Amino acid sequence: MMRHLTLHAPTLRAALLLLAAAFLAAVAACSERSSPDAPKTGPAAQPSVPYRAVATVGMVGDIVRRVAGDRAKVWVLMGSGVDPHLYKPTRADVSAMLEADIVFYNGLMLEGKMTDALVRVAATRPVHAVTELLEETDRLRPKEDASGHYDPHVWMDPVRWGRTVDVVRDRLSAFDPAGAAAYSANAERLSGEIRSLHEYAAGVLATVPERSRVLVTAHDAFNYLASRYGFEVLGIQGLSTESEAGVQDIERIVRVLVERAIPAVFVETTVADRNVRALIAGAKAKGQDVIIGGSLFSDAMGAPGTYEGTYIGMIDHNVTTIARALGGRAPERGMSGRLATPESTAPSGSARPASTDRPSAEGAR
Ligand SMILES: [Zn+2]
Repeated sequence: MMRHLTLHAPTLRAALLLLAAAFLAAVAACSERSSPDAPKTGPAAQPSVPYRAVATVGMVGDIVRRVAGDRAKVWVLMGSGVDPHLYKPTRADVSAMLEADIVFYNGLMLEGKMTDALVRVAATRPVHAVTELLEETDRLRPKEDASGHYDPHVWMDPVRWGRTVDVVRDRLSAFDPAGAAAYSANAERLSGEIRSLHEYAAGVLATVPERSRVLVTAHDAFNYLASRYGFEVLGIQGLSTESEAGVQDIERIVRVLVERAIPAVFVETTVADRNVRALIAGAKAKGQDVIIGGSLFSDAMGAPGTYEGTYIGMIDHNVTTIARALGGRAPERGMSGRLATPESTAPSGSARPASTDRPSAEGAR
């Protein structure tokens, strides 16, 4: 009995296999007839130029735009004044990403509420987190953060952020090899400009008296700048704007302001200024006059089409404002005379909430 089965089983298997093969051949013949343009296997096709690139925040979008040049149309999802920590992607954002040929974002949890959407999009197209592609040494881990998260605000240090130019160049060259020479030339030019920005920042920030090298801001976005240029930072809120500041946070910083006679504190374009105003009132109650030294671009650049709406203009504005407010010397209009004068741009002291400040004008340029 056993012997009988073992003799016949291979025959049965062979017959079934033959049947299956015939069926598959028929299906293949069928589908070949019905769709002659079925995708061919092999290396990825060269994208048609200009292709479409999407970036989450302006700082990333500006690097992509500069390196890609006219080979890509670059869309930025979050415009001026939008807080990326709190931003939830709209349906239009998700479709913009699904229509994009390549997507870049900051990473390190900056766009915390976009994670699901980015994972979804990454299933069908290249999606790159520029800061997560940097060397480990280019990322800071905040000392007081027990979660083990890295600080996402890498753009605040032009030296570290300058390395994202190479990251973008390499990713674009892999995606569009025909553009590699153009990407190299564009990246080199931009890297040179960012090096000049760093030299300017180092120069003007070094003129701030040592005891005043303390940056008091609405949230903890300036650690990279501080570590590069020898400042101390005190953010009222933590690394993300999600956590609320408590009365103790305010009192702790008021004590430092008074003890060290810090002349100025800063508001941010993407964060409400009520905590900063509470600090000023607290210091005044203790007999110390503190002024608002200006409005800094923390997590978004200025308006599209302006100098401050570029990465270089954003940092130029910040370091110029900081140096001048804390007793240092810097030209009023920044490193190349292109900054708007303080009179022409009323500082947007009270930031608008992200939900009522949707990007609209930040389209492809
Ligand atoms: Zn932030």
